[in-house]
Amino acid sequence: MDPTLPSDPDSAFISHAPGHWPREAMNHWSDYKWQLRNRVDTLTDLAARLRLTDEERAGVLLAGHKLAMSITPHFFNLIDREDPACPIRRQVVPRIEEGWSAPEERADPCGEDSHMPVPGLVHRYPDRVLFLLTDHCASYCRYCTRSRMVSGVGEQHLETQWEAAFRYLETTPQVRDVLLSGGDPLLFSDVRLDRILTRLRAIPHIQFIRIGSRIPIFLPQRITPEMCAMLKKHHPLFISIHTNHPRELTLEARDALGRLADAGIPLGNQSVLLRGVNDSVDVQKALVHKLLMCRVRPYYLYQCDLINGSSHLRTTVAEGVAIIEGLRGHTSGYAVPQFVIDGPGGGGKIPINPNYLIDTAPGSVTLRNFEGKFFEYPDPSPMPPAELARLHDKALGMCS
Ligand code: SF4
Repeated sequence: MDPTLPSDPDSAFISHAPGHWPREAMNHWSDYKWQLRNRVDTLTDLAARLRLTDEERAGVLLAGHKLAMSITPHFFNLIDREDPACPIRRQVVPRIEEGWSAPEERADPCGEDSHMPVPGLVHRYPDRVLFLLTDHCASYCRYCTRSRMVSGVGEQHLETQWEAAFRYLETTPQVRDVLLSGGDPLLFSDVRLDRILTRLRAIPHIQFIRIGSRIPIFLPQRITPEMCAMLKKHHPLFISIHTNHPRELTLEARDALGRLADAGIPLGNQSVLLRGVNDSVDVQKALVHKLLMCRVRPYYLYQCDLINGSSHLRTTVAEGVAIIEGLRGHTSGYAVPQFVIDGPGGGGKIPINPNYLIDTAPGSVTLRNFEGKFFEYPDPSPMPPAELARLHDKALGMCS
């Protein structure tokens, strides 16, 4: 079946509530505080709701010293209980493989810690910074780039120096773009977020603020009209969400994204290419089509970072290139994300594309299109001097 067709359950906007929860849970389902209080975060709770494999059971026990397990009821309900290889389950249920680090893996694969002028502030590119507001998320992704500090049980703790960070931003005029991330900034209260955004907006050289958040997917109930009204005071403000599989785009997520879009916030999606989750053209196509229907532009597709214990979730780079090849030209240009690798050790985002430029020769290039057809594209031809002289003469003739 073509997974881009609406008859596919992964492509339809469905509410999965109350699913694994009793019917009474519907009375609280839209209360984000209830969702947070009722997260699945213990082995007992998880085992009561899913038939766990030995690998998962061991994974949950190991997770307590690495990256905590926590899953909101909303997201948990997207898990197909009958499918041990469920793509939603693979993202949030720990597995034993997380306990082994491949030789190429690192705790801080993108070299963020070595680019922190102030604890909690990463300044890696000349004109933009990453401001880490919190180490908490609504649910925890097993491949998280910052698992060394996110969730608070790993080897490092995030200790953002608030005053020093604001002072650094106030006295560093080349910074024009601030990305608020963590952890998930949209877990903060409206009042606290408003205070942070107001302080940033008071810095004249900061032109542009972005928030990176998975809340619209993990906890769409948190995107309240009050939050949207607060956020819209701080334009230009963009939000990058994080969605990996089309099933994550539920009715609730679509409505939450609609509220953000109605508040004038441009929305982009960053997904991570994950083995057994979204490593096929069909799944990616269904995902990007649903994102556009939610008013979200697919922005980046990340090659999974070389994070400790991630080899079971990582794919080869060639598989990512093949996915882009299967999208580019085969669907709307707006639907095609940029495939990127975050250069290990702090190289920044490096765009990776299928090779469409086949050959360059003096005066022309040879190109390949999405159907594999070849085209010659010439460089601009210089105007012959005789033609230039002829046109001058003609123009003079028009004056006389
Ligand atoms: S939501 Fe983002 S920061 Fe939080 S665990 Fe997932 S990837 Fe990491």
